Amino acid sequence: MSKYQPNKIFIEKDVVNSSITRQILKKLPDIPVEYIDDYRSIKVDGDTTDDIFKKSKECLAIAGKKGELVKEFRCRDGIVGNTEYFISHGNNCSLDCDYCFLQCYFGNAVPTVFINHDEMLDEIKDVLLATSDKKIVFHAGELCDALAFDDLTGLSGKLIPLFSAFPNARLELRTKTTTIENLINIKAVGNIVVSWTFSPQIIIDEHEHKAPSLEQRIRAAEDVQTAGYNVGICLDPIILCDDWFDHYKSMLGILLERLDMARVKFISLGGFRYLPSLTKVIRERNLQTSLLLGEFVPCVDGKYRYFRPTRTEVYKEIGKVIRDLSKDVKISLCMETPEVWNSVKDILK
Ligand code: SF4
Repeated sequence: MSKYQPNKIFIEKDVVNSSITRQILKKLPDIPVEYIDDYRSIKVDGDTTDDIFKKSKECLAIAGKKGELVKEFRCRDGIVGNTEYFISHGNNCSLDCDYCFLQCYFGNAVPTVFINHDEMLDEIKDVLLATSDKKIVFHAGELCDALAFDDLTGLSGKLIPLFSAFPNARLELRTKTTTIENLINIKAVGNIVVSWTFSPQIIIDEHEHKAPSLEQRIRAAEDVQTAGYNVGICLDPIILCDDWFDHYKSMLGILLERLDMARVKFISLGGFRYLPSLTKVIRERNLQTSLLLGEFVPCVDGKYRYFRPTRTEVYKEIGKVIRDLSKDVKISLCMETPEVWNSVKDILK
């Protein structure tokens, strides 16, 4: 039985007879199905914005992706970052984080899995072949948690063997879930990094609804390390709250003690950031939210971030905690400006 049990399934008529659709339905028996023409036209009714989101996230759509399945991503000018590739294997996810930018990204919030896996693998392979002399990074967790539906789709079991033939490339599977059974059951490959977004439990309780606890995420990371995988630690978004330093310090102490640091490929740090369009959704869903308290400033890419001196202090303080615990682990900043990088580089190096 799947960990995710929706109460309604939308299926595009074009993919009804796909073997992956049948495989998913076998794991989700007795759930009402509505057949649709196009996942982009799904509408879920509700009394309030929050009600619509909550009801949407109790559904699942099975669809064929229209358009690119692999997207090249470059940071906007003024933000530090390398060109990377996103694998478009789904939209939205079953968890419900207050800060999720996907809330204002797609036309609906229904978790959607794309089952045109063969086309997806072909597109990935084309990029891998064209760039086989370079060190490139693919992500499978940008527009949908990388593993939230892996027990239904089995996609990781196809991606990992493909990447095993291209050791110069790296595939990062970023998740907050504990859906690791498929990973454990296939041979680990060195260029796969399973990364978890870790947050102090107080932040999970307040802002990461329906998500596994910190302890559950740590256990899942320990288990995939035991199975031979490399792991990444993402503190992104870092959310400031009362006593934020103590909460993050205590979490890092536990993480770096329990994980095998020889198999931790990186720790990435990124402060909470948002486009103005997200604030409307966040406030409509919860007028009392503490997420938008604090001093935010517009940045060069149009996103709002904590005031620069605050971000710098946060990265420095967290960076010092990490360096006290590990001299070697690679620390990087996520989607930050060169000015902030320069202010903290001596501590993070
Ligand atoms: S886990 Fe990621 S994709 Fe899912 S709701 Fe949270 S932020 Fe959004």
